Amino acid sequence: MGYTPFENKVWLATPTMHGEELEYITQAYESNWMSTAGANIEEVERIISEKLGCKYAVALSAGTAALHMAVKLAGVKRGDKVFCSDMTFDATVNPVVYEGGVPIFIDTEYDTWNMDPKALERAFELYPDVKVVVLVHLYGVPGKIDEIREICDRHGAIIIEDAAESLGATYKGVQTGTFGEFNCISFNGNKIITGSSGGMMLTDSEEAAQKARKWSTQSREPAPWYQHEELGYNYRMSNVIAGVVRGQIPHLEDHIARKKAIYEKYKKGFEGLPVIMNPYDEKNSEPNFWLSCMIIDKEAMCRQTRGPLAAQFFKEPGRSCPTEILETLEKYNVEGRPVWKPMHMQPIYANNAFVCAADSVDVGADIFERGLCLPSDIKMTDDEQEIIIDIIKSCFD
Ligand SMILES: *Cc1c(COP(=O)(O)O)cnc(C)c1O
Repeated sequence: MGYTPFENKVWLATPTMHGEELEYITQAYESNWMSTAGANIEEVERIISEKLGCKYAVALSAGTAALHMAVKLAGVKRGDKVFCSDMTFDATVNPVVYEGGVPIFIDTEYDTWNMDPKALERAFELYPDVKVVVLVHLYGVPGKIDEIREICDRHGAIIIEDAAESLGATYKGVQTGTFGEFNCISFNGNKIITGSSGGMMLTDSEEAAQKARKWSTQSREPAPWYQHEELGYNYRMSNVIAGVVRGQIPHLEDHIARKKAIYEKYKKGFEGLPVIMNPYDEKNSEPNFWLSCMIIDKEAMCRQTRGPLAAQFFKEPGRSCPTEILETLEKYNVEGRPVWKPMHMQPIYANNAFVCAADSVDVGADIFERGLCLPSDIKMTDDEQEIIIDIIKSCFD
């Protein structure tokens, strides 16, 4: 094919800085607000809550911390069953377990790669007492919010939205991260905008926001000494990190536009190949296109085996598989990734229940088998992306 490996690695998604970040960090430094209080924190909370259209945003050390606070606010107690998206990063579900809750995994649908409302409905038939549903918008694509909302309302359950990957994505014109009672966004290093780390818990409830603020700062009571009536956590965002986030926020829209262009370019480049891009509801939703993903048609899959820690494939003309494509990209110094391995397939959650829309259909396992994440770094050049498209095409020779 005549390409040599890229001299500089092309990454899946890395931080992209713009300069303002440094100004806000410097302000924090020069004013000595180098702690978990200060103007940057106040500003990011104000700007994000205004931008997204929720009343309160509580800046925390990570998206995972935000989810933990959300799970506590939802009142999950030891032994409580909680319905969770199945195909996701384990940070979506671990906080349920921190509180002693028991995740029950709800299978995925093909239309958006998110929680399948039919599987959720079925889960409520099996477990009618469940009161909390944790819903992720995978790779920045909004899930079937209306359907899920309706089912949850009917069963008296509340939604926790994990919008860690979907900041800026909208469903019927409304921002993700505002549909649930208690929601989370993340500023981890590879997300659409970053603080290098950090996250936020979003809610319309003043009481909930106040609780999250208190819990995340070691649950101090308003007394002259350190007085504690509740368990506390050290989860508050640093004012330095908040400076980075503050500098990134004005660039969210540019990042989304660039990510969308990357998605569209792959989509066009793959015309004629037996693959599709990760789909979304074009009528009702506008993703943030955080990661571009593809899934190979069943008929075009060569054989691939995956053990607990390694994968193998068996080359067949005209066919390929995620393992072949990822190994080939690696050879050219390009980073791709399998799609999130579903939680019900993870050894740590082997004993948890998993509910599908119909018997003997496991959509999550199928998408995991045939899907992969493509390099989606917004600093990738058009030329680099064209070569990557060619490299992927060659896997189907
Ligand atoms: C990144 C991520 C999180 C966790 O965010 P952190 O800020 O890394 O703790 C949670 N859920 C999903 C789906 C994520 O991708």
